Amino acid sequence: MSRIKRRNFITALASGVLGLGLPRGGRAEQGEILTAQSESPVPKIKKYNSLGKTGLKVSDVSCGAISLFEGNVLRYAYECGVNYFDTAESYLRMKGEAYVGQALKEVRSKVIITTKHGFDFRQKIEKAAVIKRMEESLKRLQSDYVDIAMVHGLSDLSLVLNSQEIMSAYDQLKKDGKVRFTGFSTHNAEVTLKQALDSDFGQVVLFMYNHMEGKKIEPLVKAIREKGIGTVAMKIFAGGMQGNLKGLVSPEMSYPQAAIRWVMSNPDIDTCIPTMSSYSHVEEYVAASGRPLDRAALGIIARYQQLAHHLYCRVSCSECLSACPHDVAVNDVLRYAMYFENYGMEREAMSCYAAMEARRKPLSCASCAGYCESACPYGLSVKARLVHAHDLLTA
Ligand code: SF4
Ligand code: SF4
Repeated sequence: MSRIKRRNFITALASGVLGLGLPRGGRAEQGEILTAQSESPVPKIKKYNSLGKTGLKVSDVSCGAISLFEGNVLRYAYECGVNYFDTAESYLRMKGEAYVGQALKEVRSKVIITTKHGFDFRQKIEKAAVIKRMEESLKRLQSDYVDIAMVHGLSDLSLVLNSQEIMSAYDQLKKDGKVRFTGFSTHNAEVTLKQALDSDFGQVVLFMYNHMEGKKIEPLVKAIREKGIGTVAMKIFAGGMQGNLKGLVSPEMSYPQAAIRWVMSNPDIDTCIPTMSSYSHVEEYVAASGRPLDRAALGIIARYQQLAHHLYCRVSCSECLSACPHDVAVNDVLRYAMYFENYGMEREAMSCYAAMEARRKPLSCASCAGYCESACPYGLSVKARLVHAHDLLTA
Protein backbone atom coordinates (compact mmCIF):
# COMPACT_ATOMS: atom_id res chain seq x y z
CA MET A 1 0.00 0.00 0.00
CA SER A 2 2.95 2.34 0.51
CA ARG A 3 3.11 3.21 -3.16
CA ILE A 4 -0.61 3.35 -3.77
CA LYS A 5 -2.03 6.59 -5.10
CA ARG A 6 -5.11 8.12 -3.51
CA ARG A 7 -7.21 7.88 -6.67
CA ASN A 8 -6.29 4.24 -7.17
CA PHE A 9 -7.15 3.44 -3.58
CA ILE A 10 -10.54 5.09 -3.83
CA THR A 11 -11.26 3.35 -7.12
CA ALA A 12 -10.27 0.05 -5.55
CA LEU A 13 -12.70 0.68 -2.74
CA ALA A 14 -15.46 1.58 -5.13
CA SER A 15 -15.01 -1.64 -7.08
CA GLY A 16 -14.85 -3.70 -3.91
CA VAL A 17 -11.26 -4.82 -4.47
CA LEU A 18 -10.50 -4.15 -0.84
CA GLY A 19 -13.57 -6.01 0.25
CA LEU A 20 -15.72 -3.10 1.27
CA GLY A 21 -17.39 -1.59 -1.73
CA LEU A 22 -19.40 1.55 -1.21
CA PRO A 23 -21.90 1.52 1.58
CA ARG A 24 -25.42 2.32 0.57
CA GLY A 25 -26.24 5.97 0.68
CA GLY A 26 -22.59 6.95 0.32
CA ARG A 27 -23.30 9.95 -1.82
CA ALA A 28 -20.53 12.16 -0.52
CA GLU A 29 -17.93 9.46 -1.00
CA GLN A 30 -19.13 8.66 -4.51
CA GLY A 31 -18.79 12.34 -5.28
CA GLU A 32 -15.22 12.16 -4.11
CA ILE A 33 -14.56 9.15 -6.27
CA LEU A 34 -15.76 11.00 -9.33
CA THR A 35 -13.72 14.08 -8.61
CA ALA A 36 -10.57 12.84 -6.93
CA GLN A 37 -7.73 13.58 -9.30
CA SER A 38 -4.76 13.53 -6.97
CA GLU A 39 -1.93 11.31 -8.08
CA SER A 40 0.19 12.14 -5.06
CA PRO A 41 1.03 9.26 -2.72
CA VAL A 42 -1.27 8.94 0.25
CA PRO A 43 0.18 10.39 3.46
CA LYS A 44 1.43 7.91 6.03
CA ILE A 45 1.62 7.92 9.81
CA LYS A 46 5.21 8.65 10.82
CA LYS A 47 5.11 7.95 14.54
CA TYR A 48 3.74 5.28 16.86
CA ASN A 49 3.70 5.62 20.65
CA SER A 50 3.31 3.18 23.52
CA LEU A 51 -0.18 3.41 24.96
CA GLY A 52 0.71 3.59 28.64
CA LYS A 53 1.75 0.18 29.87
CA THR A 54 -0.76 -1.75 27.79
CA GLY A 55 1.96 -2.99 25.45
CA LEU A 56 0.00 -1.54 22.52
CA LYS A 57 1.62 0.79 20.00
CA VAL A 58 -0.70 3.45 18.64
CA SER A 59 -0.44 5.90 15.78
CA ASP A 60 0.18 9.42 17.08
CA VAL A 61 -2.75 10.62 14.97
CA SER A 62 -5.72 8.31 15.41
CA CYS A 63 -9.34 8.22 14.39
CA GLY A 64 -12.39 9.43 16.23
CA ALA A 65 -15.35 7.73 14.58
CA ILE A 66 -18.12 9.92 15.91
CA SER A 67 -19.45 11.90 12.98
CA LEU A 68 -21.22 10.78 9.84
CA PHE A 69 -18.76 8.83 7.74
CA GLU A 70 -18.64 6.01 5.29
CA GLY A 71 -16.94 2.77 6.20
CA ASN A 72 -14.34 3.02 3.49
CA VAL A 73 -12.99 6.26 4.96
CA LEU A 74 -12.00 4.33 8.07
CA ARG A 75 -10.32 1.69 5.95
CA TYR A 76 -8.50 4.47 4.09
CA ALA A 77 -7.28 5.79 7.44
CA TYR A 78 -6.00 2.32 8.26
CA GLU A 79 -4.16 2.12 4.94
CA CYS A 80 -2.55 5.46 5.80
CA GLY A 81 -1.19 3.89 8.99
CA VAL A 82 -3.85 4.87 11.53
CA ASN A 83 -4.30 1.91 13.87
CA TYR A 84 -6.40 3.26 16.76
CA PHE A 85 -10.14 3.76 16.26
CA ASP A 86 -12.46 5.22 18.87
CA THR A 87 -16.20 4.62 18.79
CA ALA A 88 -19.07 4.30 21.28
CA GLU A 89 -22.32 2.44 21.66
CA SER A 90 -24.24 5.71 21.32
CA TYR A 91 -22.47 7.19 18.29
CA LEU A 92 -24.48 7.74 15.14
CA ARG A 93 -27.61 6.74 16.99
CA MET A 94 -26.30 3.24 17.78
CA LYS A 95 -24.87 2.69 14.29
CA GLY A 96 -21.31 3.91 14.87
CA GLU A 97 -19.94 0.58 16.07
CA ALA A 98 -21.44 -1.20 13.08
CA TYR A 99 -19.70 1.19 10.67
CA VAL A 100 -16.39 0.60 12.43
CA GLY A 101 -16.89 -3.17 12.45
CA GLN A 102 -17.80 -3.31 8.76
CA ALA A 103 -14.89 -1.09 7.72
CA LEU A 104 -12.21 -2.86 9.73
CA LYS A 105 -13.30 -6.50 9.95
CA GLU A 106 -10.69 -7.65 7.45
CA VAL A 107 -7.87 -6.00 9.37
CA ARG A 108 -9.28 -6.55 12.85
CA SER A 109 -6.15 -8.11 14.33
CA LYS A 110 -4.05 -5.16 13.18
CA VAL A 111 -6.13 -2.38 14.69
CA ILE A 112 -6.96 -1.25 18.20
CA ILE A 113 -10.63 -0.52 18.83
CA THR A 114 -12.04 1.36 21.78
CA THR A 115 -15.74 1.48 22.48
CA LYS A 116 -17.59 3.27 25.25
CA HIS A 117 -20.79 2.78 27.23
CA GLY A 118 -22.54 5.46 29.24
CA PHE A 119 -24.39 4.69 32.48
CA ASP A 120 -27.17 6.50 34.25
CA PHE A 121 -25.95 6.17 37.81
CA ARG A 122 -29.32 7.28 39.18
CA GLN A 123 -30.76 3.99 37.92
CA LYS A 124 -30.07 0.49 39.17
CA ILE A 125 -27.17 -1.01 37.20
CA GLU A 126 -26.89 -4.78 36.93
CA LYS A 127 -23.84 -6.81 36.00
CA ALA A 128 -25.75 -8.98 33.52
CA ALA A 129 -27.04 -5.91 31.70
CA VAL A 130 -23.53 -4.41 31.45
CA ILE A 131 -22.22 -7.67 29.99
CA LYS A 132 -25.14 -7.92 27.57
CA ARG A 133 -24.55 -4.39 26.27
CA MET A 134 -20.89 -5.21 25.68
CA GLU A 135 -21.79 -8.41 23.84
CA GLU A 136 -24.18 -6.48 21.62
CA SER A 137 -21.40 -3.97 20.90
CA LEU A 138 -19.11 -6.85 19.92
CA LYS A 139 -21.73 -8.14 17.49
CA ARG A 140 -21.95 -4.72 15.86
CA LEU A 141 -18.16 -4.49 15.78
CA GLN A 142 -18.01 -7.97 14.19
CA SER A 143 -15.34 -8.95 16.68
CA ASP A 144 -14.89 -11.39 19.55
CA TYR A 145 -13.22 -8.75 21.67
CA VAL A 146 -12.69 -5.05 22.09
CA ASP A 147 -9.24 -3.74 22.94
CA ILE A 148 -10.40 -1.03 25.32
CA ALA A 149 -13.81 -0.73 26.97
CA MET A 150 -14.48 2.68 28.48
CA VAL A 151 -17.16 4.13 30.68
CA HIS A 152 -18.44 7.01 28.58
CA GLY A 153 -18.58 10.62 29.72
CA LEU A 154 -17.63 10.10 33.35
CA SER A 155 -17.61 13.13 35.64
CA ASP A 156 -16.87 11.27 38.87
CA LEU A 157 -14.83 8.06 38.91
CA SER A 158 -16.12 7.11 42.35
CA LEU A 159 -19.47 6.28 40.73
CA VAL A 160 -17.76 3.41 38.91
CA LEU A 161 -15.53 2.41 41.80
CA ASN A 162 -18.58 2.17 44.07
CA SER A 163 -20.57 0.13 41.58
CA GLN A 164 -19.86 -3.52 42.33
CA GLU A 165 -22.00 -4.45 39.33
CA ILE A 166 -19.93 -2.49 36.78
CA MET A 167 -16.60 -3.46 38.32
CA SER A 168 -17.58 -7.11 38.45
CA ALA A 169 -18.96 -7.02 34.86
CA TYR A 170 -15.70 -5.58 33.53
CA ASP A 171 -13.68 -8.17 35.47
CA GLN A 172 -15.82 -10.91 33.98
CA LEU A 173 -15.51 -9.51 30.45
CA LYS A 174 -11.73 -9.38 30.83
CA LYS A 175 -11.61 -12.93 32.19
CA ASP A 176 -13.70 -14.12 29.23
CA GLY A 177 -11.35 -12.44 26.75
CA LYS A 178 -14.01 -10.03 25.51
CA VAL A 179 -12.26 -6.92 26.81
CA ARG A 180 -8.50 -6.44 26.97
CA PHE A 181 -8.26 -3.16 28.86
CA THR A 182 -10.64 -0.77 30.57
CA GLY A 183 -10.79 2.96 31.13
CA PHE A 184 -13.08 5.96 30.89
CA SER A 185 -13.70 9.09 28.89
CA THR A 186 -14.27 12.39 30.63
CA HIS A 187 -14.94 16.10 30.22
CA ASN A 188 -14.06 16.58 33.86
CA ALA A 189 -10.39 15.62 33.79
CA GLU A 190 -9.41 17.82 36.71
CA VAL A 191 -11.48 15.57 39.00
CA THR A 192 -11.42 12.17 37.32
CA LEU A 193 -7.71 12.01 36.46
CA LYS A 194 -6.92 12.80 40.09
CA GLN A 195 -9.25 9.97 41.15
CA ALA A 196 -7.61 7.63 38.63
CA LEU A 197 -4.24 8.28 40.24
CA ASP A 198 -5.56 6.84 43.49
CA SER A 199 -7.40 3.84 42.05
CA ASP A 200 -6.61 0.70 40.11
CA PHE A 201 -9.42 1.18 37.61
CA GLY A 202 -8.46 1.84 34.03
CA GLN A 203 -5.42 1.34 31.87
CA VAL A 204 -6.37 4.03 29.33
CA VAL A 205 -8.12 7.39 29.71
CA LEU A 206 -9.68 9.65 27.09
CA PHE A 207 -9.99 13.33 27.96
CA MET A 208 -10.31 16.71 26.39
CA TYR A 209 -7.00 18.40 25.70
CA ASN A 210 -6.34 21.36 23.45
CA HIS A 211 -4.35 24.57 23.27
CA MET A 212 -7.14 26.72 24.74
CA GLU A 213 -7.86 24.78 27.93
CA GLY A 214 -5.33 21.98 28.22
CA LYS A 215 -2.57 23.65 30.20
CA LYS A 216 -4.31 23.38 33.57
CA ILE A 217 -4.45 19.57 33.47
CA GLU A 218 -0.89 19.00 32.29
CA PRO A 219 0.56 18.11 35.74
CA LEU A 220 -2.22 15.54 36.17
CA VAL A 221 -1.68 14.11 32.70
CA LYS A 222 2.00 13.77 33.47
CA ALA A 223 1.26 11.93 36.72
CA ILE A 224 -1.24 9.65 34.97
CA ARG A 225 1.28 8.82 32.27
CA GLU A 226 3.99 8.16 34.85
CA LYS A 227 1.64 5.73 36.52
CA GLY A 228 1.52 3.83 33.22
CA ILE A 229 -2.00 4.77 32.15
CA GLY A 230 -2.43 5.36 28.43
CA THR A 231 -3.48 8.91 27.47
CA VAL A 232 -5.77 9.74 24.55
CA ALA A 233 -6.70 13.33 23.70
CA MET A 234 -10.04 14.42 22.25
CA LYS A 235 -11.62 17.79 21.32
CA ILE A 236 -8.19 18.80 20.16
CA PHE A 237 -9.41 21.53 17.79
CA ALA A 238 -10.72 23.75 20.61
CA GLY A 239 -14.17 24.17 19.19
CA GLY A 240 -13.22 23.59 15.54
CA MET A 241 -14.24 27.12 14.59
CA GLN A 242 -11.66 27.50 11.86
CA GLY A 243 -14.38 27.61 9.19
CA ASN A 244 -15.81 30.77 10.74
CA LEU A 245 -12.61 32.58 11.66
CA LYS A 246 -10.90 34.63 9.00
CA GLY A 247 -7.14 35.02 9.00
CA LEU A 248 -6.06 31.48 9.76
CA VAL A 249 -4.80 30.64 6.30
CA SER A 250 -1.18 29.61 6.11
CA PRO A 251 0.67 28.16 3.12
CA GLU A 252 2.57 25.79 5.41
CA MET A 253 -0.23 24.02 7.20
CA SER A 254 -3.90 24.16 8.10
CA TYR A 255 -5.22 25.09 11.54
CA PRO A 256 -6.16 21.44 12.34
CA GLN A 257 -2.61 20.38 11.49
CA ALA A 258 -1.21 23.06 13.80
CA ALA A 259 -3.61 21.98 16.56
CA ILE A 260 -2.56 18.33 16.19
CA ARG A 261 1.09 19.36 16.41
CA TRP A 262 0.36 21.33 19.56
CA VAL A 263 -1.35 18.39 21.26
CA MET A 264 1.22 15.82 20.23
CA SER A 265 4.14 18.01 21.25
CA ASN A 266 3.25 16.99 24.81
CA PRO A 267 5.22 13.78 25.40
CA ASP A 268 2.63 12.68 27.96
CA ILE A 269 -0.07 12.33 25.31
CA ASP A 270 0.05 8.96 23.54
CA THR A 271 -2.41 9.70 20.75
CA CYS A 272 -5.20 12.03 19.69
CA ILE A 273 -8.49 11.25 17.96
CA PRO A 274 -9.68 13.93 15.55
CA THR A 275 -12.91 12.90 13.85
CA MET A 276 -12.18 11.53 10.39
CA SER A 277 -15.35 11.60 8.36
CA SER A 278 -13.95 12.17 4.86
CA TYR A 279 -10.92 11.25 2.77
CA SER A 280 -9.69 14.80 2.97
CA HIS A 281 -9.85 14.72 6.79
CA VAL A 282 -7.73 11.58 6.79
CA GLU A 283 -5.13 13.10 4.50
CA GLU A 284 -5.04 16.44 6.28
CA TYR A 285 -4.69 14.98 9.77
CA VAL A 286 -2.33 12.13 8.93
CA ALA A 287 -0.01 14.64 7.25
CA ALA A 288 0.54 16.17 10.72
CA SER A 289 1.88 12.88 12.12
CA GLY A 290 5.35 13.14 13.61
CA ARG A 291 5.62 16.84 12.78
CA PRO A 292 7.13 19.24 15.32
CA LEU A 293 5.44 22.23 16.91
CA ASP A 294 7.41 24.82 15.00
CA ARG A 295 7.16 28.57 14.73
CA ALA A 296 4.60 28.43 11.91
CA ALA A 297 2.31 26.09 13.89
CA LEU A 298 2.61 28.28 16.98
CA GLY A 299 1.70 31.33 14.89
CA ILE A 300 -1.53 29.72 13.70
CA ILE A 301 -2.38 28.60 17.23
CA ALA A 302 -1.81 32.12 18.58
CA ARG A 303 -4.05 33.60 15.88
CA TYR A 304 -6.82 31.10 16.60
CA GLN A 305 -6.63 31.84 20.31
CA GLN A 306 -6.94 35.54 19.60
CA LEU A 307 -9.92 35.12 17.28
CA ALA A 308 -11.76 32.50 19.32
CA HIS A 309 -11.14 33.86 22.81
CA HIS A 310 -14.58 35.51 23.19
CA LEU A 311 -16.40 32.84 21.18
CA TYR A 312 -15.30 29.48 22.50
CA CYS A 313 -17.17 28.09 25.50
CA ARG A 314 -14.49 26.02 27.21
CA VAL A 315 -15.83 22.49 27.46
CA SER A 316 -14.15 21.85 30.81
CA CYS A 317 -15.34 25.16 32.29
CA SER A 318 -18.28 25.56 34.64
CA GLU A 319 -17.51 28.97 36.09
CA CYS A 320 -20.82 30.59 35.19
CA LEU A 321 -23.05 27.75 36.38
CA SER A 322 -23.45 28.89 39.95
CA ALA A 323 -24.50 32.37 38.78
CA CYS A 324 -27.59 31.03 37.04
CA PRO A 325 -30.78 31.10 39.14
CA HIS A 326 -32.36 28.51 36.82
CA ASP A 327 -29.59 25.90 36.93
CA VAL A 328 -29.08 25.96 33.15
CA ALA A 329 -26.35 23.56 31.99
CA VAL A 330 -24.62 26.33 30.05
CA ASN A 331 -21.50 24.35 29.10
CA ASP A 332 -23.43 21.30 27.90
CA VAL A 333 -25.88 23.34 25.83
CA LEU A 334 -23.08 25.31 24.18
CA ARG A 335 -21.14 22.08 23.57
CA TYR A 336 -24.11 20.61 21.70
CA ALA A 337 -24.37 23.82 19.68
CA MET A 338 -20.68 23.39 18.85
CA TYR A 339 -21.34 19.83 17.63
CA PHE A 340 -24.11 21.22 15.43
CA GLU A 341 -22.39 24.28 14.01
CA ASN A 342 -18.72 23.36 13.89
CA TYR A 343 -18.56 19.57 13.76
CA GLY A 344 -21.35 19.09 11.20
CA MET A 345 -23.11 16.67 13.58
CA GLU A 346 -26.56 18.22 13.41
CA ARG A 347 -28.63 15.13 14.19
CA GLU A 348 -26.35 13.92 16.98
CA ALA A 349 -26.34 17.39 18.54
CA MET A 350 -30.13 17.59 18.44
CA SER A 351 -30.52 14.16 19.94
CA CYS A 352 -28.07 15.00 22.78
CA TYR A 353 -30.08 18.15 23.45
CA ALA A 354 -33.39 16.31 23.34
CA ALA A 355 -32.05 13.86 25.96
CA MET A 356 -31.23 16.67 28.43
CA GLU A 357 -33.40 17.22 31.46
CA ALA A 358 -35.84 20.01 30.55
CA ARG A 359 -35.05 21.92 33.74
CA ARG A 360 -31.39 22.33 32.62
CA LYS A 361 -32.31 23.78 29.22
CA PRO A 362 -32.07 27.54 28.54
CA LEU A 363 -35.83 28.07 28.55
CA SER A 364 -35.77 31.14 30.80
CA CYS A 365 -32.81 32.91 29.22
CA ALA A 366 -34.74 35.24 26.91
CA SER A 367 -36.33 37.03 29.86
CA CYS A 368 -33.34 36.81 32.21
CA ALA A 369 -30.89 39.56 33.14
CA GLY A 370 -28.01 37.33 32.00
CA TYR A 371 -26.11 36.78 35.25
CA CYS A 372 -24.00 34.12 33.54
CA GLU A 373 -22.36 36.72 31.30
CA SER A 374 -20.84 38.65 34.17
CA ALA A 375 -19.53 35.36 35.54
CA CYS A 376 -17.84 34.26 32.32
CA PRO A 377 -14.13 35.13 32.53
CA TYR A 378 -13.78 34.97 28.74
CA GLY A 379 -16.43 37.56 27.91
CA LEU A 380 -18.76 35.30 25.95
CA SER A 381 -22.19 36.61 24.99
CA VAL A 382 -23.62 33.71 26.92
CA LYS A 383 -27.28 34.67 27.02
CA ALA A 384 -27.59 35.30 23.28
CA ARG A 385 -25.61 32.15 22.58
CA LEU A 386 -27.94 30.07 24.71
CA VAL A 387 -31.10 31.47 23.12
CA HIS A 388 -29.60 30.79 19.70
CA ALA A 389 -28.50 27.29 20.74
CA HIS A 390 -32.02 26.37 21.84
CA ASP A 391 -33.47 27.52 18.52
CA LEU A 392 -30.77 25.69 16.61
CA LEU A 393 -31.10 22.43 18.51
CA THR A 394 -34.89 22.28 18.41
CA ALA A 395 -35.50 23.54 14.85
S1 SF4 B 1 -29.29 33.97 30.74
FE1 SF4 B 1 -30.06 33.77 32.88
S2 SF4 B 1 -31.24 31.84 32.83
FE2 SF4 B 1 -29.93 31.84 31.03
S3 SF4 B 1 -28.11 30.76 31.70
FE3 SF4 B 1 -27.70 32.94 31.95
S4 SF4 B 1 -28.25 33.35 34.09
FE4 SF4 B 1 -29.18 31.38 33.55
S1 SF4 C 1 -19.96 30.48 29.10
FE1 SF4 C 1 -17.95 31.08 29.88
S2 SF4 C 1 -18.00 30.66 32.09
FE2 SF4 C 1 -19.75 29.60 31.15
S3 SF4 C 1 -18.99 27.53 30.79
FE3 SF4 C 1 -18.64 28.70 28.90
S4 SF4 C 1 -16.57 29.52 29.06
FE4 SF4 C 1 -17.17 28.85 31.12
